Amino acid sequence: MKYISTRNSKIKYSIDQAINLGLAPDGGLFVPVKIPKVNIQNYHSLTFPDLASKLLSNYFDKNLKLVCKKAFNFKVPLIKLNENTSVLELFHGPTCAFKDFAARFMAEYLNQFQSSSKLKTVLVATSGDTGGAVASAFLNKKNYRVVILYPKDKVSKRQEKQLTSFGNNVHAIAVNGTFDDCQKIVKQSFLDKRFKKFNLMSANSVNLARILPQVVYYAFISLKKPKASWIIPTGNLGNATACLIAKKMGFPIGKVIFACNSNDTLYKYYSTGKYNPQKSKHTLANAMDVGAPSNFERVQHFYPNYSQFKKNISVVSISDVEIRKFIKKTYKEHHYIICPHTATAFAAIEKLNIKGSAIIASTAHPAKFDSMVELCVNTKIKTPKMLADLLKRSSSYFNMKPRKKYLYSYLKNLK
Ligand SMILES: *Cc1c(COP(=O)(O)O)cnc(C)c1O
Repeated sequence: MKYISTRNSKIKYSIDQAINLGLAPDGGLFVPVKIPKVNIQNYHSLTFPDLASKLLSNYFDKNLKLVCKKAFNFKVPLIKLNENTSVLELFHGPTCAFKDFAARFMAEYLNQFQSSSKLKTVLVATSGDTGGAVASAFLNKKNYRVVILYPKDKVSKRQEKQLTSFGNNVHAIAVNGTFDDCQKIVKQSFLDKRFKKFNLMSANSVNLARILPQVVYYAFISLKKPKASWIIPTGNLGNATACLIAKKMGFPIGKVIFACNSNDTLYKYYSTGKYNPQKSKHTLANAMDVGAPSNFERVQHFYPNYSQFKKNISVVSISDVEIRKFIKKTYKEHHYIICPHTATAFAAIEKLNIKGSAIIASTAHPAKFDSMVELCVNTKIKTPKMLADLLKRSSSYFNMKPRKKYLYSYLKNLK
């Protein structure tokens, strides 16, 4: 498989070039030259890791059996709530968020196929969950170190604890600013020649290695629940892009619904056909606080005109008030506790009056947002063992003003 930029279809890249560059040199995003149509009969009755290696070998041109076995070593349960609604729990990986899937695949893939003697620095800006998943995946991987930038006081207490407690080759920086500031510093550093010596590598959802592994769970579950609608809590559109790719490959996926918080850039596009990126707003679903979804260009590449977009996709924007309401309601009706991100997807069912079979992609464990969720449901949430263990560890981080030059000196002095 070859890859092109969303802005130029003439120059072709290999998957490894696409992964190492992250962003195409012209500023576009990498996409496959053509999404392969598969014969889904060949995908029935495979285990999750086996389906993963078969599906992903279409894109990576390698034998991925071992990578998939190591990366996807946790359960992916589909919970049936009633006749029509099921929840796909994507949070049973080590950091209790769906980002473990792609981050773990990426780290195992690089470890197996790109071992080098040079020390590489994986630089990530995070609004909460990416940093933890990437750190956990690259923890103690030889010749890699991870540097995480997160907005101080704008992630949940437990997310912060998770980001700052890995130690070893993982380094956390608390930036006095917003997530947008963190992302800006990371972007600027990649463009700055002085940073070349740090061998920077990106691991945000602009990187194809962070998108493609997520195609697997949509494919896997769609074969068990063909034609269902999928409702996906959406921020930067990485997870939802993976669902659209699964659909284009021929897996039986119905309507795709982007559930956003009150950052409503995508909702406005859906209602008017006009795309206007905005500044991000802080909400209860903080991992989705995005005003300019970085994968929008990929979605547009797959559905170039507005009528195609509307035919395949619906978008909702959900307020903090509704997030609280649906955490309460879901607990009351189903005795099932959800995180604030997943709550946007539950709200979407009611907002769009979805009647048929629907699957909600549940993106994080509610225990990561315990203080807020417990207030809604009036009961204690059981903490998963992995999270509990991490909470016992000591944390450390570096405080930084939101300027690239401070990151430069930090990296220069890092052992
Ligand atoms: C990252 C994240 C999202 C948003 O995913 P995107 O791929 O950025 O759209 C939603 N929920 C949780 C819990 C997340 O960590």
